[in-house]
Amino acid sequence: MPHWTEPARELPVLARCDVLVVGGGSAGAAAAIAAARSGARTLLVEQQGFLGGTSTGALVAPMMANHLQKQPLNQGIYLEVLEQLLATGDADIYKDGNAGWFNPEMLKITLESLAVEAGVDIWFHTWLADALVRDGVLRGAIVETKAGRGVIEASCCIDASGDADLAFRAGVPMVVGRADDGQNQPMALRFNLGHVDLQRAMQYFAELGEFEWTDSSRNPDIPLWTTACTWDKSWPLSPVFAQAVANGDLSEDDAAYFQIFTLPGRPGEVAFNCPRLDGITDALDPHERNKVQLQGKQRILKLWRFCRRYLPGFEHSYIAQIAPMIGVRESRRIVGEYVLTSDDFFAARKFEDAIARNNYPIDIHARDKKGGLHFMAQGDYHEIPFRCLVPLQVENLLVAGRCLSADFAAQGAVRIIPNCYAMGQAAGVAAALATQQALSPRALPPALLRQHLNWMNGEEPCL
Ligand SMILES: Cc1cc2nc3c(=O)[nH]c(=O)nc-3n(C[C@H](O)[C@H](O)[C@H](O)COP(=O)(O)OP(=O)(O)OC[C@H]3O[C@@H](n4cnc5c(N)ncnc54)[C@H](O)[C@@H]3O)c2cc1C
Repeated sequence: MPHWTEPARELPVLARCDVLVVGGGSAGAAAAIAAARSGARTLLVEQQGFLGGTSTGALVAPMMANHLQKQPLNQGIYLEVLEQLLATGDADIYKDGNAGWFNPEMLKITLESLAVEAGVDIWFHTWLADALVRDGVLRGAIVETKAGRGVIEASCCIDASGDADLAFRAGVPMVVGRADDGQNQPMALRFNLGHVDLQRAMQYFAELGEFEWTDSSRNPDIPLWTTACTWDKSWPLSPVFAQAVANGDLSEDDAAYFQIFTLPGRPGEVAFNCPRLDGITDALDPHERNKVQLQGKQRILKLWRFCRRYLPGFEHSYIAQIAPMIGVRESRRIVGEYVLTSDDFFAARKFEDAIARNNYPIDIHARDKKGGLHFMAQGDYHEIPFRCLVPLQVENLLVAGRCLSADFAAQGAVRIIPNCYAMGQAAGVAAALATQQALSPRALPPALLRQHLNWMNGEEPCL
């Protein structure tokens, strides 16, 4: 391949901080808030102009239930955020006890307010370009902004980029996709329809059968309901989709995965967990990302027309929003001090250095036999050890969120938003402690970390 050699150049040091967080999604926002509250001078760089990442920018709502006896398994900043949203009617509690039904726009503002209040220095529209590693120790990052390229020096960095961009560039060992064939889960481009007659739509789904909802006291005009349709089993909507395929209004692919939710704080709006782009899986390939944008919008158009024509209540709907970020279920995963496995999941394994708890099922989107939901024994949970956030080979770096150290199946369970908050919070506290004690996070005694993560010990306040 023809190539150019990039000339060496001196870069300005734009800032120095104790903790640098790359990526402001669920994990990154929680990490930055926790680090700043723990006394660290914290700087967060984010390529978009908002916090929340996939949860806000890819329109991924609701936060999945991760509960035992209707009580959330994780607490801390995740619950604090939900409490703020509940107070304004921008979150709501489903009948299973999950308060994670939320309004993505208000989540952006809530996270931003909490981060600013904690003293986080947020740099939006800033892109991580490279890692600065000397003798196996990460010293900071090179970033790109509209003003050009520069350096941020940090005592400790947290990679919460979802794709482990910083860890990858720092030389941390990585794995991608399924162990046998490297295949990733499919990407998605989510969207919302506005001006839906929710009552009429609900009545229609109720008439179709097997349909439940939760009436809301916060949003009396927005009952919480969800419905879905896939080809692998029979749903109340299956005959409707079959008819649309027979009429040539949808292809089998368009209808392979359909799921919708109402949204607290957004009357008349419905969120679509689709189109799922089954053949487009490699989020690290820029051409595949383009395909999500181009094919995704065409599929959205078809789904919208289908809804208007076939679903009562949707006749006058319009496309209210197409997600600014593509939906990536998984891409790179770091190899850390511990690799969480599906065996840990099914054995409901607990760890001395646990920083999060999960019983959400292994959720693999794939149309071959390896796809589907796989549940653990009822009434139990497994834990995520801190070592899953500690990468091999590079010091002064932690990794939080969906790119943690886990096998493909275990990642398919723990990648949900509540766990990303818990991982981020633990990484933020650990990075601040490591900085204060002049240790690499790898050397932090688990007991000390747990002492500072007091929600894990059932203590108040949550941080
Ligand atoms: C289609 C889909 C449906 C899902 N459904 C659900 C659901 O219903 N409920 C649920 O709980 N979970 C769901 N999930 C999973 C969940 O949304 C994600 O796993 C979780 O939000 C990931 O959080 P994160 O903080 O690890 O990463 P992200 O939220 O992706 O955050 C990463 C952040 O880093 C930024 N970034 C990336 N690279 C750079 C860079 N080089 N420089 C600067 N910034 C950068 C990004 O802009 C982003 O803000 C779904 C995921 C998808 C894709």
